[in-house]
Amino acid sequence: MAVPQRRTSKTAKRLRRGHYKLESVALVACPHCGALVRPHHVCKECGYYKGKDILHLKKEEE
Ligand SMILES: [Zn+2]
Repeated sequence: MAVPQRRTSKTAKRLRRGHYKLESVALVACPHCGALVRPHHVCKECGYYKGKDILHLKKEEE
């Protein structure tokens, strides 16, 4: 097996990998109920998207 003549140092490796990170999920307030939802997604709290009731979620408290 081939062996590299000069290994990448721990520091060089860590500096390179310091840029690898997860991006945080974008969140906006639902215009119908105010819950935090991802943009361009149906709201899971009230089931609304673009002003229309998409999921027809029934509320328990009436
Ligand atoms: Zn909502």
